[in-house]
Amino acid sequence: MSTNTIAVHLPDGSIREVPSGTTPLDVANSISPRLAAASVAARITPLAATAVQNSARDGHSPENKPAASEEPSEASMYAAEDSAAPRLVDLSAPLASDITLELVTEKDPDALKVLRHSAAHVLATAVLELFPETKLGHGPATDSGFFYDFYRAQPFTPENLAAIEAKMAEVVARNEPFVREYEPREQALAEFAKDGDFMKTHFVTKFTAPGSEVSFYRNGTFIDFCRGPHVPSTGRVKAVKVMSISGAYWLGDQKNPQLQRIYGTAFFSRKDLDEYLERLEDARRRDHRRLGKELELFAVSDEVGAGLPLWLPKGATIRRLLEEYILDLERRNGYEHVYTPDIAKVDLYVRSGHWAHYHDSMFPPMKLENEEMVLRPMNCPHHILIYESKPRSYRDLPLRLAELGTMYRYELSGALSGLSRVRCMTLNDAHIFCSPDQIKEEFSNVMKLVERAYRDLGITQYSYRLSLHDPANKEKYVDNDAMWELGERVLREALDSLGLKYKEGKGEAAFYGPKLDIQLADVMGHEETYSTIQVDFHLPNQFGLEYTAADGNRHRPVMIHRAIISTMERMVSYLIELYAGAFPLWLAPVQIGLVPISERHLAYAQKVEAALKDAGFRVETDDRNEKMNAKIRDFANQKTPYILVFGDKEEGAGAVSVRTRGKGDQGSMPLADFIAKATALVDMQSTEL
Ligand SMILES: [Zn+2]
Ligand SMILES: [Zn+2]
Repeated sequence: MSTNTIAVHLPDGSIREVPSGTTPLDVANSISPRLAAASVAARITPLAATAVQNSARDGHSPENKPAASEEPSEASMYAAEDSAAPRLVDLSAPLASDITLELVTEKDPDALKVLRHSAAHVLATAVLELFPETKLGHGPATDSGFFYDFYRAQPFTPENLAAIEAKMAEVVARNEPFVREYEPREQALAEFAKDGDFMKTHFVTKFTAPGSEVSFYRNGTFIDFCRGPHVPSTGRVKAVKVMSISGAYWLGDQKNPQLQRIYGTAFFSRKDLDEYLERLEDARRRDHRRLGKELELFAVSDEVGAGLPLWLPKGATIRRLLEEYILDLERRNGYEHVYTPDIAKVDLYVRSGHWAHYHDSMFPPMKLENEEMVLRPMNCPHHILIYESKPRSYRDLPLRLAELGTMYRYELSGALSGLSRVRCMTLNDAHIFCSPDQIKEEFSNVMKLVERAYRDLGITQYSYRLSLHDPANKEKYVDNDAMWELGERVLREALDSLGLKYKEGKGEAAFYGPKLDIQLADVMGHEETYSTIQVDFHLPNQFGLEYTAADGNRHRPVMIHRAIISTMERMVSYLIELYAGAFPLWLAPVQIGLVPISERHLAYAQKVEAALKDAGFRVETDDRNEKMNAKIRDFANQKTPYILVFGDKEEGAGAVSVRTRGKGDQGSMPLADFIAKATALVDMQSTEL
């Protein structure tokens, strides 16, 4: 080991001169033993050349860049990282050159990943101790925990999983240090081959260069081919749980052996783990696929096909109310509604450019006598044809054309889910044609509409993402630098002038322009784009759109694509989960359930039902020969906002006994008073009930 001195630059700006070979743990201890104890790993950025003594030993080839995907790929685990970029290392990694160093404590978002990957080693340790015949695949951290792939001829049973979890607790209690070791590659490969470790052989062969030394981590007697980093010892994996198991073919190929993928999760504290499990339970309780079935909102039929849901009467009622709500809001904000066909000639999409950029996501064309038709993946070209249907002047602008437009996207069957991922969807779509100097105001007005609609629907968990293009990706984006510059600048200015906070997302733009995505978070904190506003200079060019300006000259309009409440499918799926099926009174498919106490009150039930329907309510009478409590329970299980109960006393007084969802029995009141009260709640679209 060299006795050179290296400079360690710390986040507070101070610089420490330390002997080469000093570890981050040494540095932490020299600052404070408490910091050392709280640290999990270190984040280093080389100031020049090689920072960690062994970093060149793996001999990774640079083309194996980590791939971006939801599930961590094998490359993301084993491939070499850019040596100039910040990276995480073990607290025990010997430092070899001038670097900036940041100690990663439990609060750092990356710390959880290090912990979870370490937990995957603990899982593999436990599995091999209990089932030594098992062969190891790989075990990365995921967004919500970790997994490890195993090959074993016999499937793991639920009892096996319980035993594995118990054994993991032993491994944690043993508090074994994770120690990094190196071995010549050819020796490692020979050992793996001898043991029949076909997956490890594959990883070493693929991700290391001949003649190099490969990196292993040992805890106790367990050894795994891995590049790290890990927490210092198994004892740091304090709160860990085995979650589930699933099958996967080795390398995703059905001809290969089937692996067993065990999923788990880990946290720094029992409290964090318990909170996560509670959230997971809450998410299960709210799952729109489960509630959609229980509350009879929608169904999926094999005979229709995957991703093509059937809206049952109750789900259709919610959707229709949502549609009426947004159409009314748009009308009051200067939009004009149109209808356009769901299919068009392929030529239209060739002209728009969608065919070139988007046709992987489209259903294949249908051949007619001498033309080809496609199901539309977007509504924009149709609205452009409406713009083109007559000569336009500046007096027509801004022209706001809106439609509940049905579109078809070819999503892979594996990606389809309930109402949230479908192949046929109806978008609350509109296209605003305006002059360049109107963009900012139109954009701001759309933003205000989004905020208004979210408030009315009770949506509070959302954030804005300004999605920009990636100048390096000429394939994905229209090549027009001036257009991108202008579009992105105008959106930033509008957002800043509204005082809205937003994140920027490079490479997230549409192919024709920048956009603002409104991201909604679910119970688990996962964000998805629901509403978008996109500024488009490209399609007007593509179609050669024009208007006559006040000066008599011809000018090109700009298009703004916008969707306020997303597709009906996705918004209804979101609202089902937001409200856990307990829709506010104005959106509830059945607003009022009627419970006549006995058969002799059926005539009065009919009168009450007629009066309520006349006042515009959606009512259901339970006229079965059942006990009153059973009827009340059934309406409550359907999350009906109001349940009205009546017997002799109520009938005599022209009254009803009112049970309000979440509040229970509210006592008896005259029917007319109830109608007035409930009508007021519906009229204000209250989200209180
Ligand atoms: Zn590892
Ligand atoms: Zn559009």
